[in-house]
Amino acid sequence: MDTGEQPELDDDFDFEDFEPASPLPSERYWLVHANGGRQLIDPRQFDMELLERQAKRVGGRLVLERWIDHGVVVAPAPIAPPRPTAAFDPPVSALAPLFRSRLDRIHTCKVDFVTSVSSRPTNRVLGNYYRTRKLIRIYSHDTQTGRRPLEELFDTYLHEVAHHLEYTEYESFDAESCGRVRGRMHSRLFWRILGELKTRWRNEVRQALLDDGS
Ligand SMILES: [Zn+2]
Repeated sequence: MDTGEQPELDDDFDFEDFEPASPLPSERYWLVHANGGRQLIDPRQFDMELLERQAKRVGGRLVLERWIDHGVVVAPAPIAPPRPTAAFDPPVSALAPLFRSRLDRIHTCKVDFVTSVSSRPTNRVLGNYYRTRKLIRIYSHDTQTGRRPLEELFDTYLHEVAHHLEYTEYESFDAESCGRVRGRMHSRLFWRILGELKTRWRNEVRQALLDDGS
């Protein structure tokens, strides 16, 4: 849900101390390429200071994206260049079952959740997780560029699934409790869960390619 709150885009954030100690609003890290394309960065997998220097060298930049309300996800400007027409994208109605079948290949959820894909165009919101309803909502269309690419949507889906898992089965990820820290949406545990899901999915894709080739 877009509450209309003003995004807090922190363009000049100093990535030297990107691990904030004080309570912060929700945050994500983006690598914005020189051509305007953007890529979600998992801060655990990079030396952020080094990455920022490398990005600047090739005309790009790192952007810290913050939002106050968990429901509001702020995509950084600039907007990505027009994308090629997504002729082979499955219909929006097929996304939730498709993503679920992918997830089932890499993790069996102990507590079920519901996925809803909304095609209402948004420019800030990519997805939400509603904890009490155990509902994941994904927004399939960007106001400027139209349909979001399939893998970007799946990326958002895994992000929201990681929130669900952090609340409902932290013990599956060797944690003794939910890692959520008050005032900070993305805990270390959250990033670990998301990283684990992404690694499993990458391995799954790799294996599928190998099987295809044999
Ligand atoms: Zn999140």
